[in-house]
Amino acid sequence: MDCMPHVDRYAPSPTSDLHLGNLRTALAGWLLARSVGGGWLMRVEDLDADRVRAAQGMEARNLADLQALGLGWDGPVVRQSERLELYRDAVASLPTYECFCTRREIAEAASAPHDGHRAYPGTCKGLSAAERAERRATRRPAVRVDSGGATFAVEDDHAGRVEGVVDDFVLVRGDGAFAYNLAVVVDDIDMGVTHVTRGDDLLSSAPRQAWLTRQLGGTPATYAHIGLVVNEEGQRLAKRDGAVTLADLAPLPPADVLALLTDSLGLGRCRTTEEALAAMPGDQRFFSGAVWRDGVLA
Ligand code: GLU
Repeated sequence: MDCMPHVDRYAPSPTSDLHLGNLRTALAGWLLARSVGGGWLMRVEDLDADRVRAAQGMEARNLADLQALGLGWDGPVVRQSERLELYRDAVASLPTYECFCTRREIAEAASAPHDGHRAYPGTCKGLSAAERAERRATRRPAVRVDSGGATFAVEDDHAGRVEGVVDDFVLVRGDGAFAYNLAVVVDDIDMGVTHVTRGDDLLSSAPRQAWLTRQLGGTPATYAHIGLVVNEEGQRLAKRDGAVTLADLAPLPPADVLALLTDSLGLGRCRTTEEALAAMPGDQRFFSGAVWRDGVLA
């Protein structure tokens, strides 16, 4: 038994159905939390209003799929769209500056990508008040945090210590929407999250998010970035790979889908989450990825 409190969260973006890869990551986080008596919270990341509107009803379907597999969460569902005041306060407490750069200007000026992310070189940081006023007349600025060129390291149960450069990343987008990296950090602090289990496509964001956590007075979480489910070409699983959602897989009962998922996590074929919990080895700290091939996850 872990003596540290363990509070994890699952954070779906309700813009598409959850596929087997998403469900597998959710299950891994649920198992890691529940096997040490920890909490598992649910946060719907619905800040992208246009995409959420276009996918109406998706939140209910995402939550129903998780429940069908037996993945119950603690407390009420938290929705980012209902927490804008928190994000506003956080931005107001940070050193920031307005950025008027277009995507193209950033791509041209940015240094070579590190961890798949182009570091913003601070082009707009030195603008005078007059220059800012002039640009504001034609373009709505994004708001960037002034990171002072920090580097920050996180502890990941899978990848070990991961250090990254923290550039002046965006907190508020040009269209006024709060950015993912801001909202995720504000929420994780507010919700008391101590452990973050999610897909390893987000590993490169972790140093940036952990650094921001510190700036906002929080304690960075321990991470477990789980290997993704990929198709036979090694690309991350997507709708085009065929029957990959619970709806596609029907009439396979959810218990059979759960057995596919637990088998691919090395726990054998478990038809209930209780069985999966009983199969968790005491020292299980992470799970690796899987390949979806001919109806099997291996
Ligand atoms: N909402 C993000 C996604 O669906 C997950 C963010 C996170 O877990 O930090 O990919």
